[in-house]
Amino acid sequence: MTMLLAITAATGNAQTDGFKYTDESFADIQMLRYKVEGFENLSLRQKTFVYYLSEAALQGRDILFDQNGRYNLRIRRALETIYTDYAGDRSSKDFQAMTVYLKRVWFSSGIHHHYGCEKFVPEFSETWFREALQSVWQKTHLCRYFRRWVTKPGEETLSHDEVCRRFCDEICPIMFRQEIMPMRVNQKDGDDLILTSAENYYGEGITQAEAEEFYALRAAPNDPRPIMTGLNSRLVRGEDGNLREAVWREHGLYGTAITKIIKCLEQAKPFADNEQQVKVIDKLIEYYRTGDLRTFDEYSILWLKETEGLVDFVNGFTETYGDPLGMKASWESIVNFKNLEATERTKKLSANAQWFEDHSPVDSRFKKEEVKGISAKVITAAMLGGDLYPSTAIGINLPNSDWVRKDHGSKSVTIGNLTDAYNKASHGSGFDKEFVIDDATRELIRKYGDACDDLHTDLHECLGHGSGKLLPGTNPDTLKVYGSTIEEARADLFGLYYVADPKLVELGLTPNLDAYKSQYYTYMMNGLMTQLVRIKPGNTIEEAHMRNRALIAHWVFEKGKADKVVELTKKRGKTYVKINDYAKMRDLFGKLLAEIQRIKSEGDYNGARDLVETYAVKVDANLHKEILERYARLKLAPYKGFINPVYQAVRDAEGKIIDVTVSYDEAYDAQMLRYSKEYNNLPDVNN
Ligand code: ZN
Repeated sequence: MTMLLAITAATGNAQTDGFKYTDESFADIQMLRYKVEGFENLSLRQKTFVYYLSEAALQGRDILFDQNGRYNLRIRRALETIYTDYAGDRSSKDFQAMTVYLKRVWFSSGIHHHYGCEKFVPEFSETWFREALQSVWQKTHLCRYFRRWVTKPGEETLSHDEVCRRFCDEICPIMFRQEIMPMRVNQKDGDDLILTSAENYYGEGITQAEAEEFYALRAAPNDPRPIMTGLNSRLVRGEDGNLREAVWREHGLYGTAITKIIKCLEQAKPFADNEQQVKVIDKLIEYYRTGDLRTFDEYSILWLKETEGLVDFVNGFTETYGDPLGMKASWESIVNFKNLEATERTKKLSANAQWFEDHSPVDSRFKKEEVKGISAKVITAAMLGGDLYPSTAIGINLPNSDWVRKDHGSKSVTIGNLTDAYNKASHGSGFDKEFVIDDATRELIRKYGDACDDLHTDLHECLGHGSGKLLPGTNPDTLKVYGSTIEEARADLFGLYYVADPKLVELGLTPNLDAYKSQYYTYMMNGLMTQLVRIKPGNTIEEAHMRNRALIAHWVFEKGKADKVVELTKKRGKTYVKINDYAKMRDLFGKLLAEIQRIKSEGDYNGARDLVETYAVKVDANLHKEILERYARLKLAPYKGFINPVYQAVRDAEGKIIDVTVSYDEAYDAQMLRYSKEYNNLPDVNN
């Protein structure tokens, strides 16, 4: 519901503005940097506000590591000490492999893949690891901490080596044996989802049936405003054998980290943009202190209604993807401020929403008499933390509580500078050189690609989803499994149709009547070919957004065949998209929009099924194989994440902040090690 993930395949050529968007890569990860455009122009008050909120965003880092698995913190800390203090051969294969492993652990906040959830396979040996840890053991604080954990009643004082050996006996099976904790979140039907998932939201040995029973007894089915039960706690078994919740709050589980978060929020408060924001912060602090989920709902309502301030933030237990039962929320934070220029763009579209509705190629019976555009807020991310770091979302739509959304609405934003960084980083990746047909098209994409991409997203979000209406009596759920593909196609087609309209030139949103061609080309290339890089050989297309793109591209390809509107041609054995008639292509987008709107308005299930099954699901095996091979040769990392900027508070003699500076040169490992030291807020074992 709430996360919009980046489409990584993008095109274009090198386009430098002096900022280094790409950094190191390792395993299947490419590290990027984002630019906090406009930070320098904020007032001192706003900068200071961002500074303290950013501190609050980092204070909860250890919480996520522990939520992702009960051994993560101690494994991370053992690896970090080897990384910083190992005096043996640092160029050895084992040390190098350990370095990659640690970088992956940092990236995923644990020992499982951040996206696929499978456990990493260490490519260094267990023997090497035990020796390496032994050699730095006394430099780790684990040495003192674990003595009491591993000493059995009545035992004499253990030697350091013995404590280390026992520590390794406990964590080595977790790290090295693939059959132990193989998945962080297991979703396989028929398994006990809790017993087979390594996440740390449920105490050891608690079964799915027990957890479900525990929460079924607490459900309030007739409550019109149900709290999100279980959201902010671990379910544990008490001494008496009964289940109870260990709530994440001040003086509760994770209390030491939460106390630090509260302190930073208190420091931020005097610099808030307005009174409503002060109320938001006060309510959040109250929630962190009490752990009361009613208070959390009150906070959410205050937060979503605060839209005037320039600076905004999310800080708390938010998304539930990490819990196989979808109840318990991982900790995350983002600090941001409005991108006024881009928000202006979406305001222009919204202000003209009725014009777009009236002129769309859709049958007038399906048009809204009165349409309201949504003015999407475009924000600039200033700091990412917890489950939004380093891997992050490019859009946020919160809160998640159904009744709050229904009664009070939600706040929806796109994070402009992260999208921008993804785009800039893809320039010069060789992708366009491999897949775009010729120099002229590449030049078009270089000039207009990013801008038209943004515009297409704006049209999709601000106007597309809000356009059209159902005929009276049409049940909105009639299209069932095809519903979301049809809905996304509708919004995309609205964008594709209008991105080529002279109205956009008139509104100053596109520079001329050629720019849209860059969007048409990349859209068709993606839908017909390059999005297949995300599908495994032999599989069909399942995900709704991917199905929608395939549907549109294949339909237009087929219907334009007679007029040769678009073709697939071969050059030196490689397939390329060739567009011969952009104007006719626009007509086809318009025709399909009309048909898809009809299907939606009438609730024509068979029509939806036929379109989707014919155009959106199947994959041409030969073309797929070719695309995968060409993509593999580019050696692009499929996953990306961000290194944060560094904010420095400049203080006067009394300690008052007189300026905040931002810099972008901290290395990935340096940042992670610094965070581990400065925001070292939880013990190794959190029970
Ligand atoms: Zn959409």
